[in-house]
Amino acid sequence: MDIAIIGGGAAAVGLLDALATAGGTDMGGTGTITVFEPSPRLWRGRAYGPDLDSVLVNAPPAIMSIRNGDFDHYAAWLGERGADHTDELLGQPLVPRALYGEYLVQCAEKAVAALGEQGWRVRVVTARVTEVVRSGPGLVLRTRDAHDDAHDDAHQGTHEHEATHVVLCVGGGTPPDLYSLTGRPGYTADPYPLADTLASVPPGGDVAVIGSGLTAVDVVVSLAARGHTGGIALLSRSGVLPHVWQRPIARPPQQVTVDRVARLHKDRGTVALDDLISLLRAELVEAGEDFDAFARELLATDTDDPVARLRRQLAVVADPRIGRRVLQETVHTVGPYAWRLLSESDRARLGRHLRTAVSVASPMIPRNATVLMRLLDTGRLTLVPGVRAIEPSKGRFRIWHDGGDRSAEFVVNGVNPPPHAVPGAARDLLSSLTATGLSAHHPSGGLTPLDPRVHVVGDLSAGGPAITASIPGLAAQAAATAQALLRTSLHAASLR
Ligand SMILES: Cc1cc2nc3c(=O)[nH]c(=O)nc-3n(C[C@H](O)[C@H](O)[C@H](O)COP(=O)(O)OP(=O)(O)OC[C@H]3O[C@@H](n4cnc5c(N)ncnc54)[C@H](O)[C@@H]3O)c2cc1C
Repeated sequence: MDIAIIGGGAAAVGLLDALATAGGTDMGGTGTITVFEPSPRLWRGRAYGPDLDSVLVNAPPAIMSIRNGDFDHYAAWLGERGADHTDELLGQPLVPRALYGEYLVQCAEKAVAALGEQGWRVRVVTARVTEVVRSGPGLVLRTRDAHDDAHDDAHQGTHEHEATHVVLCVGGGTPPDLYSLTGRPGYTADPYPLADTLASVPPGGDVAVIGSGLTAVDVVVSLAARGHTGGIALLSRSGVLPHVWQRPIARPPQQVTVDRVARLHKDRGTVALDDLISLLRAELVEAGEDFDAFARELLATDTDDPVARLRRQLAVVADPRIGRRVLQETVHTVGPYAWRLLSESDRARLGRHLRTAVSVASPMIPRNATVLMRLLDTGRLTLVPGVRAIEPSKGRFRIWHDGGDRSAEFVVNGVNPPPHAVPGAARDLLSSLTATGLSAHHPSGGLTPLDPRVHVVGDLSAGGPAITASIPGLAAQAAATAQALLRTSLHAASLR
């Protein structure tokens, strides 16, 4: 078996780790594994490269483990170093993302060594995959060397590599340019790494950040950490901020579980959104909590005052009520499975609450919430909802919003890429996969493999809810993909 892993970020690390720990030669033979990664951020991907210390992981250690089902794997790696990075309100270590990147690098290196001991030949090719095509019984990948790709030299550095199986781990997109500002002086189209992009913003500069999700929060917090004294405006259409993490509690959901949903599906043949709501209601009632009050507060996310909610949620980080915790966790754990069972009309019904779902599913960490609150209270940060247009004007930017207009000297794009967005580096690759019928674009976004030799791990995989993949989601997908690959390998070995 010759496995080609396209992309060398967290998803690829999860896959290598799962292959290394899943049984190796006992599973029926080995072969080659080639990882293709054009960027210098091998194993770290887009999120976990070197950056400012203010750019922190967005989740507590138990849900940053790259090994599926082993909730202590990352915490054990972090060990005593975690104590230097404790988020006081959360009571958990939240480290700079670059440090988490070291964890990924070490996991990948260990997995590569373990796979080598099991007889696999693993190598990394510093190149971008531009095409995958059928070739007899196998597949051929065409690549462009990173150097020639960067210099746009169409005739250099093109190579072919054979594979029996391909796993796409190409990640998600970059922030979309909603107001066509790319190339304008003072505009930052992609904020990461913030260490580079914020270096050109003077401390007293008048900055507008587009977006109000986690990327925009990273930008504001990093401006503050650099001692920014100028005004900061957070521009968005909705004005909805991410909810705030609560302290983890040791109470795994009892009702909202994959098993319960699977049982409902087996007994009735269908699963409706109302069934999932009933499970959540049962979960809260069992814990002695008021489901209706919880639902009312949740549904007000789109309409209530975001600053008042931020203040309220900062005050209840340690509140023992489980409602938001259960929802936050199960969106990632039960959500992808349940979503596939829902009818189109139920998916559309949920889709109307997407903004609320995203802000609950991907909350901000209390440390960042505290910085935002302080900046809001001192008037240095302003939330500007209802943004309609941003245009360059006389060396500045004019911003039109429902409440009037304002201007800024610098604009940083902090819009979260939409789920299932195709990264620029993978566009031609995806065209080749769909042109050859190896995969198809899913009507709701993402890529559906049409050939058992093609797999997708990460944001691009189709059929799941429109929520960006988190580390546990990636780890679960990677483990399932490793099992599928090793089953095929076992089958092939049994035929020999
Ligand atoms: C800024 C940011 C912060 C995040 N923080 C957290 C967090 O704290 N906690 C959490 O749970 N989740 C977080 N996430 C979500 C998720 O965990 C990460 O996005 C995760 O790192 C995704 O890993 P990936 O391997 O799927 O994609 P990526 O990390 O993007 O890696 C994909 C790799 O594929 C390569 N590639 C693309 N096209 C090609 C091609 N054609 N050929 C070869 N290689 C290619 C790219 O160069 C890239 O290195 C964050 C996401 C972002 C963007």
